[in-house]
Amino acid sequence: MIDQINAILPQTQCRQCGFQGCRPYAEAIATGVADINQCPPGGDEGISELARLLNLNPKPLNPVFGQHKPKSVAFIIEQDCIGCVKCIVACPVDAIVGAAKFMHTVIASECTGCELCIAPCPVDCIIMKPLPVQQSYDAVQKYAITRHAKSRYDARCLRKEKEALEKVERAKQKRAELLKSLHKT
Ligand code: SF4
Ligand code: SF4
Ligand code: SF4
Repeated sequence: MIDQINAILPQTQCRQCGFQGCRPYAEAIATGVADINQCPPGGDEGISELARLLNLNPKPLNPVFGQHKPKSVAFIIEQDCIGCVKCIVACPVDAIVGAAKFMHTVIASECTGCELCIAPCPVDCIIMKPLPVQQSYDAVQKYAITRHAKSRYDARCLRKEKEALEKVERAKQKRAELLKSLHKT
Protein backbone atom coordinates (compact mmCIF):
# COMPACT_ATOMS: atom_id res chain seq x y z
CA MET A 1 0.00 0.00 0.00
CA ILE A 2 2.83 2.42 0.83
CA ASP A 3 4.32 1.81 -2.63
CA GLN A 4 0.96 2.34 -4.30
CA ILE A 5 0.45 5.63 -2.45
CA ASN A 6 4.01 6.73 -3.18
CA ALA A 7 3.48 6.00 -6.88
CA ILE A 8 0.72 8.63 -6.94
CA LEU A 9 2.80 11.34 -5.22
CA PRO A 10 4.71 13.82 -7.43
CA GLN A 11 8.21 12.87 -6.18
CA THR A 12 9.47 16.44 -5.88
CA GLN A 13 10.51 15.65 -2.27
CA CYS A 14 9.61 19.26 -1.42
CA ARG A 15 8.46 18.48 2.18
CA GLN A 16 5.46 20.82 2.03
CA CYS A 17 3.32 17.95 3.32
CA GLY A 18 5.19 18.18 6.64
CA PHE A 19 7.24 15.04 6.06
CA GLN A 20 10.82 14.53 4.89
CA GLY A 21 9.81 13.50 1.39
CA CYS A 22 7.15 11.71 -0.63
CA ARG A 23 7.74 8.23 0.77
CA PRO A 24 7.56 9.30 4.44
CA TYR A 25 4.27 11.04 3.60
CA ALA A 26 3.05 7.85 1.87
CA GLU A 27 3.93 5.90 5.01
CA ALA A 28 2.06 8.44 7.15
CA ILE A 29 -1.05 8.17 4.96
CA ALA A 30 -0.91 4.37 4.99
CA THR A 31 -0.70 4.30 8.77
CA GLY A 32 -3.43 6.91 9.26
CA VAL A 33 -1.05 9.54 10.66
CA ALA A 34 -1.61 11.99 7.79
CA ASP A 35 -4.57 12.98 5.66
CA ILE A 36 -4.67 12.67 1.86
CA ASN A 37 -4.86 16.44 1.22
CA GLN A 38 -1.42 17.64 2.31
CA CYS A 39 0.53 17.64 -0.97
CA PRO A 40 0.29 20.96 -2.89
CA PRO A 41 2.33 19.82 -5.95
CA GLY A 42 -0.01 16.85 -6.46
CA GLY A 43 -2.96 19.13 -7.20
CA ASP A 44 -6.62 18.21 -6.81
CA GLU A 45 -5.98 15.38 -9.25
CA GLY A 46 -3.45 13.80 -6.89
CA ILE A 47 -5.88 14.04 -3.95
CA SER A 48 -8.61 12.41 -6.05
CA GLU A 49 -6.27 9.57 -7.05
CA LEU A 50 -5.35 8.97 -3.42
CA ALA A 51 -9.03 9.04 -2.46
CA ARG A 52 -9.82 6.47 -5.18
CA LEU A 53 -7.01 4.18 -4.08
CA LEU A 54 -7.99 4.36 -0.43
CA ASN A 55 -11.74 4.31 -1.00
CA LEU A 56 -12.21 7.71 0.61
CA ASN A 57 -14.04 10.86 -0.38
CA PRO A 58 -11.82 13.45 -2.10
CA LYS A 59 -11.39 16.74 -0.27
CA PRO A 60 -9.77 20.10 -1.07
CA LEU A 61 -6.09 20.70 -0.36
CA ASN A 62 -5.52 21.71 3.25
CA PRO A 63 -4.20 25.31 2.89
CA VAL A 64 -2.01 24.86 5.98
CA PHE A 65 0.36 22.92 3.71
CA GLY A 66 0.48 25.45 0.85
CA GLN A 67 -1.31 26.16 -2.38
CA HIS A 68 -1.44 24.62 -5.82
CA LYS A 69 0.89 26.71 -8.01
CA PRO A 70 1.77 26.78 -11.71
CA LYS A 71 4.76 24.57 -12.53
CA SER A 72 7.99 26.56 -12.06
CA VAL A 73 11.69 25.87 -12.31
CA ALA A 74 14.58 27.40 -10.39
CA PHE A 75 16.80 29.93 -12.08
CA ILE A 76 20.17 31.14 -10.79
CA ILE A 77 21.12 34.79 -11.35
CA GLU A 78 24.60 33.70 -12.35
CA GLN A 79 26.43 37.02 -11.97
CA ASP A 80 25.44 37.07 -8.27
CA CYS A 81 26.42 33.46 -7.50
CA ILE A 82 29.41 33.15 -5.15
CA GLY A 83 29.88 29.40 -5.73
CA CYS A 84 29.14 28.32 -2.16
CA VAL A 85 27.64 24.95 -3.31
CA LYS A 86 24.80 25.16 -0.75
CA CYS A 87 22.13 24.83 -3.46
CA ILE A 88 23.76 21.66 -4.83
CA VAL A 89 23.69 20.14 -1.36
CA ALA A 90 19.98 21.02 -1.01
CA CYS A 91 18.75 19.79 -4.40
CA PRO A 92 17.13 16.35 -4.05
CA VAL A 93 17.39 15.47 -7.75
CA ASP A 94 20.89 16.77 -8.66
CA ALA A 95 19.47 19.43 -10.95
CA ILE A 96 22.19 22.00 -10.22
CA VAL A 97 25.70 21.96 -11.63
CA GLY A 98 28.67 23.96 -10.44
CA ALA A 99 31.82 23.75 -8.36
CA ALA A 100 33.12 25.50 -5.27
CA LYS A 101 33.90 29.17 -5.99
CA PHE A 102 32.50 28.87 -9.52
CA MET A 103 29.19 29.94 -10.95
CA HIS A 104 26.31 27.46 -10.64
CA THR A 105 23.44 26.81 -12.98
CA VAL A 106 20.17 24.85 -12.96
CA ILE A 107 19.48 22.05 -15.45
CA ALA A 108 15.94 23.25 -16.10
CA SER A 109 14.77 19.95 -17.61
CA GLU A 110 15.65 18.11 -14.37
CA CYS A 111 14.28 20.71 -11.93
CA THR A 112 11.08 19.56 -10.23
CA GLY A 113 10.34 23.02 -8.81
CA CYS A 114 10.65 21.86 -5.20
CA GLU A 115 12.16 25.23 -4.11
CA LEU A 116 14.49 23.55 -1.61
CA CYS A 117 17.51 25.37 -3.05
CA ILE A 118 16.13 28.85 -2.42
CA ALA A 119 16.44 29.18 1.37
CA PRO A 120 20.06 27.93 1.64
CA CYS A 121 21.40 30.47 -0.91
CA PRO A 122 23.25 33.10 1.14
CA VAL A 123 23.01 35.78 -1.54
CA ASP A 124 19.39 35.18 -2.64
CA CYS A 125 20.36 34.65 -6.25
CA ILE A 126 17.93 31.79 -6.92
CA ILE A 127 14.44 32.64 -8.13
CA MET A 128 11.55 30.49 -9.35
CA LYS A 129 10.28 31.11 -12.87
CA PRO A 130 6.91 29.71 -13.98
CA LEU A 131 7.20 27.67 -17.18
CA PRO A 132 6.14 29.80 -20.18
CA VAL A 133 3.76 27.05 -21.31
CA GLN A 134 1.86 25.16 -18.62
CA GLN A 135 1.55 21.78 -20.30
CA SER A 136 -1.05 19.29 -19.19
CA TYR A 137 -0.03 15.65 -19.16
CA ASP A 138 -2.02 12.46 -19.49
CA ALA A 139 -1.68 9.75 -16.84
CA VAL A 140 1.10 7.90 -18.72
CA GLN A 141 3.20 11.04 -19.23
CA LYS A 142 2.66 12.08 -15.60
CA TYR A 143 3.76 8.65 -14.41
CA ALA A 144 6.91 8.83 -16.58
CA ILE A 145 7.78 12.29 -15.18
CA THR A 146 7.35 11.24 -11.55
CA ARG A 147 9.31 7.99 -12.14
CA HIS A 148 12.15 10.00 -13.65
CA ALA A 149 12.23 12.38 -10.66
CA LYS A 150 12.13 9.42 -8.29
CA SER A 151 14.97 7.63 -10.07
CA ARG A 152 17.14 10.77 -9.82
CA TYR A 153 16.26 11.13 -6.14
CA ASP A 154 17.01 7.44 -5.47
CA ALA A 155 20.33 7.69 -7.32
CA ARG A 156 21.27 10.72 -5.24
CA CYS A 157 20.35 8.95 -1.98
CA LEU A 158 22.50 5.96 -3.00
CA ARG A 159 25.42 8.22 -3.85
CA LYS A 160 25.11 10.01 -0.50
CA GLU A 161 25.06 6.68 1.33
CA LYS A 162 28.16 5.55 -0.56
CA GLU A 163 29.94 8.82 0.21
CA ALA A 164 29.10 8.47 3.91
CA LEU A 165 30.45 4.90 3.97
CA GLU A 166 33.63 5.98 2.17
CA LYS A 167 34.09 8.76 4.72
CA VAL A 168 33.81 6.27 7.59
CA GLU A 169 36.28 3.97 5.81
CA ARG A 170 38.78 6.82 5.31
CA ALA A 171 38.49 7.79 8.99
CA LYS A 172 39.12 4.16 9.98
CA GLN A 173 42.19 3.96 7.76
CA LYS A 174 43.55 7.24 9.15
CA ARG A 175 43.04 5.96 12.68
CA ALA A 176 44.78 2.67 11.86
CA GLU A 177 47.72 4.53 10.29
CA LEU A 178 47.98 6.83 13.29
CA LEU A 179 47.96 3.90 15.72
CA LYS A 180 50.61 2.16 13.61
CA SER A 181 52.88 5.22 13.65
CA LEU A 182 52.40 5.58 17.41
CA HIS A 183 53.45 1.95 17.91
CA LYS A 184 56.63 2.54 15.88
CA THR A 185 57.72 5.49 18.05
S1 SF4 B 1 5.69 16.30 -3.47
FE1 SF4 B 1 3.96 16.14 -2.08
S2 SF4 B 1 4.32 14.23 -0.98
FE2 SF4 B 1 6.22 14.77 -1.98
S3 SF4 B 1 7.34 15.86 -0.39
FE3 SF4 B 1 6.24 17.40 -1.64
S4 SF4 B 1 4.33 17.71 -0.54
FE4 SF4 B 1 5.22 15.85 0.27
S1 SF4 C 1 17.05 23.16 -8.68
FE1 SF4 C 1 16.07 23.87 -6.79
S2 SF4 C 1 13.90 23.86 -7.26
FE2 SF4 C 1 14.90 22.65 -8.85
S3 SF4 C 1 14.81 20.54 -8.09
FE3 SF4 C 1 16.75 21.35 -7.40
S4 SF4 C 1 16.34 22.17 -5.35
FE4 SF4 C 1 14.37 21.86 -6.35
S1 SF4 D 1 23.56 28.71 -3.05
FE1 SF4 D 1 23.42 30.59 -4.28
S2 SF4 D 1 25.45 31.50 -4.15
FE2 SF4 D 1 25.65 29.39 -3.43
S3 SF4 D 1 26.28 28.25 -5.26
FE3 SF4 D 1 24.06 28.13 -5.16
S4 SF4 D 1 23.31 29.83 -6.39
FE4 SF4 D 1 25.47 30.21 -5.98
